[in-house]
Amino acid sequence: MPNPTLAIVGRPNVGKSTIFNRIAGERISIVEDTPGVTRDRIYTKGEWLNQEFNIIDTGGIDLSDEPFKDQIKYQAEIAIEEADVILFVTSVREGVTEADELVARILYRSDKPVVLAVNKADNPEMRHEVFDFYTLGLGDPYPISGSHGIGLGDVLDEAIKHFPSEESEEDESIIHFSLIGRPNVGKSSLINAMLGENRVIVSEIEGTTRDAVDTRFISESGQEFTMIDTAGMRKRGKVYEKTEKYSVMRAMTAIDRSDVVLMILNAEEGIREQDKKIAGYAHEAGRAIIIVVNKWDLLEKKTDTMRKFEEKIRNEFLYLDYAPIIFVSAETKQRLNQLPDLIERVGMNQNLRVPSSILNDVIMDAVAINPTPTDKGRRLKIFYATQVAVKPPTFVVFVNDEKLMHFSYSRFLENQIRRAFAFEGTPIHIIPRKRK
Ligand code: GDP
Ligand code: GDP
Repeated sequence: MPNPTLAIVGRPNVGKSTIFNRIAGERISIVEDTPGVTRDRIYTKGEWLNQEFNIIDTGGIDLSDEPFKDQIKYQAEIAIEEADVILFVTSVREGVTEADELVARILYRSDKPVVLAVNKADNPEMRHEVFDFYTLGLGDPYPISGSHGIGLGDVLDEAIKHFPSEESEEDESIIHFSLIGRPNVGKSSLINAMLGENRVIVSEIEGTTRDAVDTRFISESGQEFTMIDTAGMRKRGKVYEKTEKYSVMRAMTAIDRSDVVLMILNAEEGIREQDKKIAGYAHEAGRAIIIVVNKWDLLEKKTDTMRKFEEKIRNEFLYLDYAPIIFVSAETKQRLNQLPDLIERVGMNQNLRVPSSILNDVIMDAVAINPTPTDKGRRLKIFYATQVAVKPPTFVVFVNDEKLMHFSYSRFLENQIRRAFAFEGTPIHIIPRKRK
């Protein structure tokens, strides 16, 4: 069950990014007393009353080349498209403006629930002025102060009421995956080729929320997959879909909903900065990863072309050394039939549980060949290790002092665990914990 999404909309300078940061619970972008400050992040996680959700700050999607009215319109469209609940922010200082009315009209036409917040109500007197905002026709206006942190609780209470209730239990055995990569690497071609070779399941439930664009299919081995929609698939050519921040955000939301991420590279172009950013996000999020080099038909091949390409990828994605690499062509269909089995395999590895007794044998053997590090005369002692989670496999290692567990030793233990068990394709987490 993916987290629900809350999108913040509103005209510039009403306090969207201030509120975004408040809800995110950390100062993740700098808000200054200048309008239109730069924001580094537009997508993050929030939590309220134990409910986790994703938040989008649509104001941070850079559309500044567009006329003012269009910017506002696109941002409202993005909110409608991406969100389960929309937080519409206005400001009591300026009252109801023409731009607010424009946003309201667009939101009004959609069937997404809207919570109307009137920001900058910093003191009690101002709270009475919010009644004007009933004219927007979007229900009760909530007076808040983003910078003082007043009233946000009521807004979030209201927002989570409208989140979709837990759907019918998702079948855990279905593997969700997505194809992530820059425009033109061949995502749509790969998707069509894969769907052409496997049996697609047509869902009985029509027109349900965003999931309607996901595709279910069964591979030859009988494994069921859900292929998650990503930006490249739609090709509707909307202005905002061409902005980099939006496409990165779409990739991140797809990764959040995936078990396995196929990182698609173009054999002719190699690796770009954006690929690394997105692969890094998938790694941090603990998703299984497969690196797919597409358009392999376009390279003139000598005996070591593949090995050299692989070396280049390994050097660029150092932390992804566990990710298998496959060289394919959507055009000639070369090796495409191997993809479903590969996705199935790494999906299983991500769910692998290893018995504590064998795990501890592996750790003890590891310590025997490479003694634990010392710091100022104190040596790291490992007492016991146990696997506490899957997806990704997570190990708690009980030690005398977790500060003595250096990154390099943790890396070494990870490698020894990988040698012993089939964790190909999945990140694994090692958490040192002091034994009480
Ligand atoms: P955005 O363009 O809608 O994202 O607006 P920002 O979050 O960048 O805020 C615009 C300006 O309003 C900044 O100078 C903020 O410090 C200020 N601001 C935000 N929230 C409040 C508030 O609750 N009260 C007051 N007085 N100022 C606020
Ligand atoms: P997307 O933007 O990532 O979805 O990329 P598309 O699937 O639209 O592909 C972009 C272009 O690359 C199209 O012209 C495709 O025909 C071409 N293309 C995709 N895969 C291959 C491939 O494996 N080999 C060759 N030669 N061309 C490909």
